[in-house]
Amino acid sequence: MAKQRFTVIAALLLGTAPAAAGPDPAPPPPGPEARPTLAVEPPAPAAAPADLLHACWTPGQLAGTPQDKAIKRRLKPDRTPPPDWAIQAAASALPPLEPGLRGSIRRVDLTDPQARLVALTFDLCEQANERAGYDAELVKALRADGVPATFFAGGKWLRTHPEQAMQLMADPLFELGNHAWTHGNLRLIQGDEARNQILWAQAEYMVLRQALAERPCAVAAGPEALGRIPAWPTLFRFPYGVCNQGSLDAAAGLGLAAIQWDLVTGDPDKGRSAQAIAQAVRAGVKPGRGNIVVAHANGRGWHSAEALPLFVPQLRAQGYRFVTVTELLAAGRPVAAETCYEVRPGDNARYDALFGRGTGE
Ligand SMILES: [Zn+2]
Repeated sequence: MAKQRFTVIAALLLGTAPAAAGPDPAPPPPGPEARPTLAVEPPAPAAAPADLLHACWTPGQLAGTPQDKAIKRRLKPDRTPPPDWAIQAAASALPPLEPGLRGSIRRVDLTDPQARLVALTFDLCEQANERAGYDAELVKALRADGVPATFFAGGKWLRTHPEQAMQLMADPLFELGNHAWTHGNLRLIQGDEARNQILWAQAEYMVLRQALAERPCAVAAGPEALGRIPAWPTLFRFPYGVCNQGSLDAAAGLGLAAIQWDLVTGDPDKGRSAQAIAQAVRAGVKPGRGNIVVAHANGRGWHSAEALPLFVPQLRAQGYRFVTVTELLAAGRPVAAETCYEVRPGDNARYDALFGRGTGE
């Protein structure tokens, strides 16, 4: 079921099946029977869509700087919603989630029990009263090694990082999911307010996608290049990794699959070394399990960029392949829990007292 849904969504959003990567194969050399013909020539193979990422940004812009990681705290809270047109479009963008994808998805039972797939996920959390960072070094390392990843972006993070957000959108290596508007605790926040946390982040994504579409570089690249960027995120990650039935239903009602994790890097802890992060990933992955790893790319994943070279080559040598969450879901059956937790049920109960509503307002 998951595979069907994502295939359908991919077809709907892309409008076309993705072409194979790499250059078009050269035509075979003419054989002995080859002869000139006056018949109509077969149409030339379609050109590969333009590379939107490099059409719209210079290598220097894509590389960013180490300062991009800095976090600014105690700012005046931003309480401005996205524009109405985008909120309204987001509200009816996706059909309600199919039953096979409901619950809090922790990993994927792979159809092939010997398959070795891992989805790295990086959260881009930002509250109303801060400007979180962007881990340019991490993104650069993923790009350099061609490691696919899923970024769960807060709506307000998208607003304060439009260039980096559009770069992540335009990069075929990555996908963007939704990480709520201002990182609200969706176990305490309820009703319309909970729904708006989810909806407004969808809307902000649409605002940026539209802005990118209108840029001359994107217009010049043509509709097929832009069409490769999904019109909407289809994945959601609960801030603080907390939820309840009401907020699970709100996400599902908006068509979003709730993606938790089964491997925790612990990277928001400054004392957690790159070696410890890498060891947690290396020790946790298993054939057939379709692991989902949680880390951060908003300046709070203190040693995650450093950890990548300590586990990516080793796991690849063992036959593991890194994939986006959408690709992982298409490769098996999601394993979902009825509630959200860190490692075992109930282990995040203290977060309500610790973070409150969590929005920073
Ligand atoms: Zn977060």
